[in-house]
Amino acid sequence: MSSVTLKNIVKRFGSFTAVHPTNLEIPEGTFVTLLGPSGCGKTTNLRMIAGLLDPTEGEILIGGKRVNDVPIHKRNLGIVFQNYALFPHKTVAENVAFGLKYRDVPKADIAGKVQAALDLVQLPDVGDRYPKALSGGQQQRIALARAIVVEPEVLLLDEPLSALDANLREDMRVELKRIQHQIGVTTVFVTHDQSEALAMSDTIVVMSAGRVEQVGSPSDVYNTPASEFVANFLGASNILAGHCEQKDAQGVVLDAPLFGKVHVPSDKAGQVQQGPAKLVLRAEKLTLFDESTATDGLVTAPARVETVDYQGQTVRYFVRVGDTQLQAINMIDDTPFAEGSAVTVGFRPQDCAALQGG
Ligand code: ATP
Repeated sequence: MSSVTLKNIVKRFGSFTAVHPTNLEIPEGTFVTLLGPSGCGKTTNLRMIAGLLDPTEGEILIGGKRVNDVPIHKRNLGIVFQNYALFPHKTVAENVAFGLKYRDVPKADIAGKVQAALDLVQLPDVGDRYPKALSGGQQQRIALARAIVVEPEVLLLDEPLSALDANLREDMRVELKRIQHQIGVTTVFVTHDQSEALAMSDTIVVMSAGRVEQVGSPSDVYNTPASEFVANFLGASNILAGHCEQKDAQGVVLDAPLFGKVHVPSDKAGQVQQGPAKLVLRAEKLTLFDESTATDGLVTAPARVETVDYQGQTVRYFVRVGDTQLQAINMIDDTPFAEGSAVTVGFRPQDCAALQGG
């Protein structure tokens, strides 16, 4: 396994810049996800790491060595795409063996390596079958077996789960993570699905319009978004433009509309300085209470329920506070509040975050 480094990488297609100057360090053995909306440049970055696209500027290093001029088949990578692209006229074992034949692995070793890869993806008995005799999830596991059988330095996965149905996708998340842990291969995973990224990654690289917005652990990017884009892309957030009045070692005092002065602790206030600032309030951190319930220690405001969107385990409310609509996602342990109810909305100051800007 090897680290992957992008140094001032730029990719232009004609006059269009798909990837603006990007620097990224992917330590060996880690599972790193490039996350962002369609068109933000995730796949372009992955294809440059793979050697399928040449960067317009900058350097790509694998294991500390510059690979800009190294062709794809000499980069020692395992690649899995969304459409598994198994060869339909080859058996599963022949599919998995494909990469080994190109790497001059002695014939006598091939069957053993193929079987080990099939064991790893927990499909030990399907070697003689053809791909069409397998389910979508099984085919995707075979594509993974084919990618890892060559013992790649880096595994590149481009939306590998998106063609699977929802339940299978969740099972495969766990499976993929287990396999990555077991073999310890450096993995770069591309997805636009935030829950996939949060569940699987050691590090998430959030991208927007060809730029990296934030790099951090799932809890970092979720709880301490570095920008409004990240706050909105990962989950649902309420963002209120206010003013940072005071900053000290404990955090900042943010004067926010609807809620007044909120003391945001330093670990949630990033680099926010005095001046225009925004309060970021995740929908699931804003709770509705009966008006008579004690809400000591919470920052609160009176509200009226406008919309109730029942979601099974949770309910999503749109509430009006003054002239502003806020979103709240609450667990249901009783009857949800009805539309039109007068309620109190509240949150713990340590559950909000602050961002600089007006
Ligand atoms: P998706 O999730 O839809 O695949 P993405 O984040 O992976 O999106 P990219 O495929 O990297 O996005 O594309 C980034 C931008 O570059 C897009 O605007 C796309 O249209 C553009 N682009 C990609 N490949 C080419 C190409 N060969 N020629 C011109 N423009 C391209």
